[in-house]
This record gives sequence, C-alpha cells and structure tokens, in this order.
Amino acid sequence: MQTELIGVMAAAAVVLALVYLSSYRHPLKQCWRCKGKGILRSGLLPWRYRICPQCGRKGEVRGPFGRK
Ligand SMILES: [Zn+2]
Repeated sequence: MQTELIGVMAAAAVVLALVYLSSYRHPLKQCWRCKGKGILRSGLLPWRYRICPQCGRKGEVRGPFGRK
C-alpha cells in the first residue's frame, strides 16, 4: 500500500517535471483572446476591429512557467 502510493507520487512528479520543462522551453502560447490573430473583431460590426489588449497584436502571450 505504502509502496504503491510512493509509485503514484513519483509518476506524478515525473509528469509535472516534463510539463514544466516543456513550458520552460516553449514560453509562448497562442493568445486565448484573439486566437493568435492579434485583433478583436467587433460583435456588432464584423468589419471593425481593435488591437487585442491581451497580446498587443502579437497574437502570442507568455504561458505559465515561461522563462524570460
Ligand atoms: Zn491577443
């Protein structure tokens, strides 16, 4: 029982470390607000848009654990 618990915790730690490393090496992710387009379209006037304030038109935002 005790050994199984330790095994599960070790597996979880490995998965977490892999997620952390991958996030660290790939710090940017697609902006969730504009889906990477860099602009937000108006709901009422589809041809009008404004620059996405979340990413400043880059279309990318820094994900969690990203390096500077
Ligand atoms: Zn954006």
